[in-house]
Amino acid sequence: MFNLNEDTRIIFDEKQDLIFDNGKVCPKCKTSLGEFLRSGVVGCANCYKVFEVEIKDMIFRKQGAINHVGKVSSKHISKIKIKEKIKELEEQKNQAAENENYIVAEALKNQIEKLKGELDNERL
Ligand SMILES: [Zn+2]
Repeated sequence: MFNLNEDTRIIFDEKQDLIFDNGKVCPKCKTSLGEFLRSGVVGCANCYKVFEVEIKDMIFRKQGAINHVGKVSSKHISKIKIKEKIKELEEQKNQAAENENYIVAEALKNQIEKLKGELDNERL
């Protein structure tokens, strides 16, 4: 089996992610997108290519969720949260790169840059 590392798995741990289950199946190992979302485990390296769009979309949606929390919180709290999130994501990105999960690493990198841009826009 081809395991995502523990930190990367955090990205996929929310039940709402199951809405991304569109019945797609990896032609090589027959792992379905739903199975991947539930377990965080893919059957082979090819799965990353097959599910690339869904993985990126999921990470993008999480970013949207962070923005939403930021709006309801005070600016100060949201800024601290964004900084913590950046640190967390950078660790995840490094681990993903080490594990050669380049799709995840790239998506995390984009997310980090977006968060950093938010910090610049919200100077206190
Ligand atoms: Zn596969």
